[in-house]
Amino acid sequence: MTATIIDGKEFAARVRAEVARHVARLNADHGVTPGLSVVLVGADPASEVYVRSKGRSTVEAGMNSWEHRLPAETAEADLLALIGRLNADPAVHGILVQLPLPGHIDSDLVINAIDPAKDVDGFHISNVGLLGTGQKAMVPCTPLGCLMMLRDHHGSLAGMEAVGVGRSNIVGKPMAQLLLGDSCTVTIAHSRTRDLAAVCRRADILVAAVGRAEMIPGDWVKPGATVIDVGINRIERDGRQRLVGDVDFASAARVAGAITPVPGGVGPMTIACLLANTLTACCRSHGLEEPEGLTA
Ligand code: NDP
Repeated sequence: MTATIIDGKEFAARVRAEVARHVARLNADHGVTPGLSVVLVGADPASEVYVRSKGRSTVEAGMNSWEHRLPAETAEADLLALIGRLNADPAVHGILVQLPLPGHIDSDLVINAIDPAKDVDGFHISNVGLLGTGQKAMVPCTPLGCLMMLRDHHGSLAGMEAVGVGRSNIVGKPMAQLLLGDSCTVTIAHSRTRDLAAVCRRADILVAAVGRAEMIPGDWVKPGATVIDVGINRIERDGRQRLVGDVDFASAARVAGAITPVPGGVGPMTIACLLANTLTACCRSHGLEEPEGLTA
């Protein structure tokens, strides 16, 4: 068997176009333009790339984009004061603080200082609680992108056996909540799971979010399963730098029914979902109808 490739790049382009269409309508009908503020503390090169790309995509979707670049030695109190100003600014519908923050700043304190209604990353404890109790929340972008791809591929996920490998607050746990919300039978595996291979082989839906290059081989995949590979790992092979996932793509693609590639799978969906969340936050703040298919 050779798996269908789930093309995240193409899907993300569709989501971005859909967001742009809604933004144009919002603007024309209500004179409202969604706006996203991204805060970067320090000059981590990977974070710089992400922030630039988020800003560019936001503008391309017709939204306002603001970047707040602060020096690495910024005091926690000054960062909190900026968050306070952004919370109070009605033109700002989404606030994203790029992680990781420098060691002297308490990330939890900063994230929980963001107005939950503007927390487009979905990391505020209120949003975590809302998601966990099945209420309307801002949902973390990466798992939201995975859910959209799964729904697009399968329609209903009800009754499917889903296994997520990884239990981080950013990916693993919210992914499990979303799959549970769509009535999957959910298992969360992690570094202490016994017989991980056997657990993975049960999965109709296998979501890998570990951060270990190609650790899941094809013989851990149930024939016909859908494999979502969240991992982004930089390795050197044949003298070249390469990006690979947490799943061994070559062997898994021979067994799975469908699989996301790395790169070009989950990655592009993450930014698309950030735009979708900013649009959703804007609609909610103005009491306007939310666009369909762009939320959990
Ligand atoms: P974390 O490091 O926070 O979490 C990794 C999880 O994997 C932990 O729960 C850990 O278990 C588990 N784990 C580690 N080793 C093993 C093992 N040998 N067997 C089973 N489980 C294991 O990572 P993130 O969730 O933040 O990210 C995961 C991956 O996804 C990374 O490659 C990251 O780069 C990528 N990523 C991609 C995004 C995208 O846009 N595509 C966005 C976010 C992340 P334990 O808790 O027991 O330590």
